[in-house]
Amino acid sequence: MTDLPNQLFINGELRRAKSGRTTPQINPATEEAFCEVQAAGLPELESAIEGSQRCFIESWRDLKPGRRGEILFQIARVIRDNVEELAQLESRNIGKPIADARDEVQLGARVFEYYAGAISKFYGQTIPVARGGLDVTLRQPMGVVAAIVPWNFPFPIACWKAAPALAAGNCVVLKPASQSPLTAIMLGVLAHQAGLPPGALQVIPGAGSEIGDALVQHPAIRKISFTGSTSVGARIMAMAAPELKRVSLELGGKSPNILFADCDLKQAAATAPMSVFANTGQDCCARSRIFVERAIFDAFVDKFIAATRGLRVGDPSREDTQLGPLVSKSQRESVEGFLSSTSGTITGGKRPSSTGYFLQPAVVLDVESTERIWREEVFGPVVCIRPFDDEKEMLAEVNASPYGLSGSLWTNDLKRALRVARQVESGVLSINSHSSVHVEAPFGGFKQSGLGRDLGMSAMEGYTELKNIYFGE
Ligand code: NDP
Repeated sequence: MTDLPNQLFINGELRRAKSGRTTPQINPATEEAFCEVQAAGLPELESAIEGSQRCFIESWRDLKPGRRGEILFQIARVIRDNVEELAQLESRNIGKPIADARDEVQLGARVFEYYAGAISKFYGQTIPVARGGLDVTLRQPMGVVAAIVPWNFPFPIACWKAAPALAAGNCVVLKPASQSPLTAIMLGVLAHQAGLPPGALQVIPGAGSEIGDALVQHPAIRKISFTGSTSVGARIMAMAAPELKRVSLELGGKSPNILFADCDLKQAAATAPMSVFANTGQDCCARSRIFVERAIFDAFVDKFIAATRGLRVGDPSREDTQLGPLVSKSQRESVEGFLSSTSGTITGGKRPSSTGYFLQPAVVLDVESTERIWREEVFGPVVCIRPFDDEKEMLAEVNASPYGLSGSLWTNDLKRALRVARQVESGVLSINSHSSVHVEAPFGGFKQSGLGRDLGMSAMEGYTELKNIYFGE
């Protein structure tokens, strides 16, 4: 594909929107608008859902599992053949450093491979019921599901919603974020080239405020899988309630990084900066609150600040760039608003250049636990570090957050690791590591970080209804 993928992808074809409306795509590193993407309206939404319903009934639902798996494997292959083009698109669209963009495209391919293989390992149960006979369970596809994805990891999140939904036998209407629709449209085109029937995966870029509500409330949509802000997630859940539609929601976070004095300080300090600043902090798993046991607080802070000064912020097309710009002007202003509101001491946090939405990573010390910057999701390159003296008090503060997505715990005391890991209220926790996402394992949050799980076999279960069938003797 040489032209930019800037149209809707419906029923196996690229299409223009009837309204003629478009959304400009701005490269956040240069502030230049480099393309206009067609914005779907209600007629295109209707046509996409209708096409998916037809595909579900006439083709995809009843395709033999072996053939479904072959097509998903082929999608992974085609993604791998197009890694460079997809990565360049993503990097230009949202300012992601090119090396990270390549890794994320490869991650998308791995997700398709995992679910291609999962199709043949997705079993029901046989249950020995009291009255004899034979009781078995079936996992059945739901029908047409909506996948609504954000701008921070556009390609991998589109893959980790589409792949398990398709693997389970559903058709998918994918709505990318308005700021980052390009790789999602290309995914639709590539999946079709790989053999996915027309209608199985539709891609409808368009404003969430316009077509989002209609998509969620459409009677043919059986499930909504959403990643984004907690406020929109709550709105979707409320809109889904009257028809009891299934929802899975992956929302905001304010994840802790907890360091006990017995940890490997060198490794913990060397890895902590990128656990919060990767993707320029625009990551729901960012470890943006660091709790450090007082005995190692000063040593940790010195090492952390030194490591942060060494991070390479700049042109995302350079191979060695670690932090690109923020996604938009308004996102940078929002992050700067947090910085200007704190009473803490800030190191960094300045604009390094006059062009592009860049911001140096900021380390905030002496912050009060009541402050916005300590309690709310910043979604930018900002970290707050505080000392603690008592494990119980520290855990109370960690769990006072309304969020509960992810976190890290550093200690060499096995008993403590287990005790604290059990008590942290989060869906994902890493011990002596900052790794949150594994294709094979469930990913999602407690409390206001969400509902349901992406990835692993849990995600595939979430795209099915469970049926119990009883055969009398
Ligand atoms: P949103 O929640 O607004 O957007 C996420 C997705 O939802 C986009 O595709 C968006 O479309 C769509 N959407 C917006 N409104 C509706 C609606 N009424 N019905 C259905 N879909 C809708 O996130 P933002 O991009 O505005 O980011 C705001 C904040 O959210 C961030 O600063 C961050 O705190 C958090 N966030 C968390 C993410 C995570 O990974 N957990 C990811 C992104 C954001 P459109 O782009 O067209 O508006």
